[in-house]
Amino acid sequence: MSPIVFEEVKRALDERYSTQDVQLIERAFHFAQDAHEGQLRHTGEPYFSHCVAVGRKLAELKLPSEVIAAGLLHDVPEDTEKTVEDITVEFGADIASMVSAITKLGKVKYRGEERYAENLRKMFVAMAEDVRVIFIKFADRMHNLETLYALPENKRQRIAKEVLEIYAPIANRLGMGEYRGQFEDYAFKYLSPKEYSWTQHLLEERVKKFGPALDRALHDVEMELRKHSITAADIHGRVKHCYSLHKKLDRYKGDIGKIYDIVALRVVVKDIPECYAALGILHGLYTPLPGRIKDYIAQQKPNGYQSIHTTVFDDEGSILEFQIRTAQMHEENEYGVAAHWKYKQGEDAQARQVQWMEELAAIQKELSATDFMKHLSELKLDMFRDRIFVFTPRGDVIDLPEESTPIDLAYAIHSEIGNKAVQSRINGEIASLSTPLKSGDLCEIIMDKNRKYPNDAWLDFVKTRHAREKIKDALKDAKTGIFSSFMKKYRGDSSSST
Ligand code: MN
Repeated sequence: MSPIVFEEVKRALDERYSTQDVQLIERAFHFAQDAHEGQLRHTGEPYFSHCVAVGRKLAELKLPSEVIAAGLLHDVPEDTEKTVEDITVEFGADIASMVSAITKLGKVKYRGEERYAENLRKMFVAMAEDVRVIFIKFADRMHNLETLYALPENKRQRIAKEVLEIYAPIANRLGMGEYRGQFEDYAFKYLSPKEYSWTQHLLEERVKKFGPALDRALHDVEMELRKHSITAADIHGRVKHCYSLHKKLDRYKGDIGKIYDIVALRVVVKDIPECYAALGILHGLYTPLPGRIKDYIAQQKPNGYQSIHTTVFDDEGSILEFQIRTAQMHEENEYGVAAHWKYKQGEDAQARQVQWMEELAAIQKELSATDFMKHLSELKLDMFRDRIFVFTPRGDVIDLPEESTPIDLAYAIHSEIGNKAVQSRINGEIASLSTPLKSGDLCEIIMDKNRKYPNDAWLDFVKTRHAREKIKDALKDAKTGIFSSFMKKYRGDSSSST
């Protein structure tokens, strides 16, 4: 195998990086390469290839050279003879402290629910102390996901679950849409391979079906914008992330015909006045669907997302979604807080960064290891906006869509628990099976052992497709039940008589 050369990282460094920056990164490259000499990964590649992949991802986020250097060094203290002290001597206290924080983040003592809480707490603490550490951890985890196939099944499941429960929501909170999407898709692929490939198939079908309409619109819109002297526009198609479509299908009860943003066209223009001008031009060209204009520029989403969305009919009756934003918004939508850390950031971005750090520091101050569980539910409300996390009496954490009910929870645990459910106890209080659950609730399902089939009225309020399907299956069985019990009896009789 030919040795890995610095060129592989250097390629990702654009003109924003000075000669000193490149030299620092190159020194870290060689230091890590020497330290990991001879070590192999599960994939059979040199261990160092992982460090290079992490460094490259950080360079693609255009993060400062110290962060890229720390990324290259991130596994040195854990896996080699060299220590944090050696790194301090060689690269100074700032880089060494990032590497040390990453090393601490990797050491988790507990299992089950406690492990989840500990992981989440550690991520919070790291984030509040130095958000750059989270970027390195994200890049590290992303490359681990890319090579997850090489790990044994139980480890794959644990990592995928952790990514879905902790990494993706944090990426979302940090406004890092691209990382969130990739985290969720990798986790989905390993946690529910069948649903993943089914959803993937749906996506491909849609792209095929709407491809010609999108190509046509791309051309027409470009011409029309140019006519109105909006010339710098970048128009490109984007396909919805697989897991995001899966969740939306859950909310729309599986009705794909109601989901219009599976493929969308993004119109990236110079400034905010151009965004509104472009919206007007689009509405001149196509008929907008009533009630489908969302102005996330006037009112940004809580995680900072900014864009104008509109859904229109084209001349041939195809329904298309457009997303209009400035180039800066586009970058921030994809990379969130990381975009604020970019090289030569403006003062405005710095001010926002400071505010964000103060918010986090305030949260962190309230937390200590012991009362963390008490705060967990309040925190989750803010952190995980469209998912809720419900605890079972056995200490499992179940991830459900917002407004899910005890019945959704029951079927998420096991079909038999769903079929036999009669009541629930939420945080110690008896509650009906249709009560909407909140993040952090402890929910117990009370069962009647003699009950065989679910209640068809449950179909009116369940939120997850999983529960709905299980209820329908069980009801189908109920209809054929008389016949099948007769068959069982008949077989039983005949065998006893011979
Ligand atoms: Mn690593």
